Amino acid sequence: MITFKNIHKAFGDNEVLKGINCTIPTGSVTVILGPSGSGKTTLLRSINFLERADRGEIILDDLHIDVETASKADIHNIRQHTAMVFQMYNLFKNKTALENVTEGLTVVKKIPKAEAKDKALYFLNKVGLAHKADAYPHELSGGQQQRIGIARALALNPDVILFDEPTSALDPELVGEVLEVMKKVAQEVNATLVVVTHEINFAREVADNIIFMDQGVIIEQGPPQELLSNPKEMRTKQFLSRYI
Ligand code: ATP
Repeated sequence: MITFKNIHKAFGDNEVLKGINCTIPTGSVTVILGPSGSGKTTLLRSINFLERADRGEIILDDLHIDVETASKADIHNIRQHTAMVFQMYNLFKNKTALENVTEGLTVVKKIPKAEAKDKALYFLNKVGLAHKADAYPHELSGGQQQRIGIARALALNPDVILFDEPTSALDPELVGEVLEVMKKVAQEVNATLVVVTHEINFAREVADNIIFMDQGVIIEQGPPQELLSNPKEMRTKQFLSRYI
C-alpha cells in the first residue's frame, strides 16, 4: 500500500502539489489522470524521491517516511522497492537491450552475471523482445525501446512499478504495442502499478482505481466504471468531455 499524507511541493512560487492525501492499494493498477500541468508526474516521482516533496509523509507498506527529514537510507530503502518506466525510456545508448536489463540486476541487486543474464532474457521474452537482446537502442523502434524499459523494471522484481507517461513520446502507431505489454504486466505481475497517462481507454480497461487530479489537488478517485462513466465533480466531467 502506498499512502500520501498531506504532500506539498512547490517549484519556486509554483505550488504544484497542494496537500495530497490518498491511498493506493497493494497489487492494484492505479491510473493518475488529469490535465497537463496538474502535478501527476510530480506526484508519481515523489514516491521514489526523484522529486522530493517539501512536506508530508509517504508510506510504502511498513516504510513511513517524512519527506522533510528523510535520510539517504530511507530514500535508498524506498527505491529498493520501486522501479520506474520513463517517458523517454532512459536506456543506456551504448549498451545492448540485454545489458540494459542486466545492469540494475548486477549493479543494484548484486546478482551474479550469469543469473542476471537468465533473468534478463526471461523478462525480454515477456515483453516479446528476446530476439532483440543484442540490439542497441538506436536499432530499435521507440515502442521496442519502451518495452525494454518495462523489462528492465520487471527484472528488478519491485513491489511497485511507476509508469511516467510511458507512451506519450511514441509515434501513434507504436502506442498499442506498449499498452498491450502493460496490460499483460497488469494481469501477470503481482506488483502495485501506478500509471500516469492520458490513455483513457487503457485506464478504462486495465485500472482498478483512477485518481483524477487538477491544479495540484485530487478532485476525485474511484474505479473506472464510476469515475469515467459517472464522474461526480464538474472538473472531472469537463476533462473527460474532451475525450468522448
Ligand atoms: P503533463 O501531463 O503535461 O506531463 P503533469 O500533470 O504531469 O503534466 P507535472 O509534470 O507534475 O504535471 O508538472 C506540474 C507543474 O510543475 C508544471 O507547471 C510544471 O511546469 C512544473 N514543474 C515540473 N517539474 C518542474 C521542475 N523540475 N522545475 C520547475 N517546475 C517544474
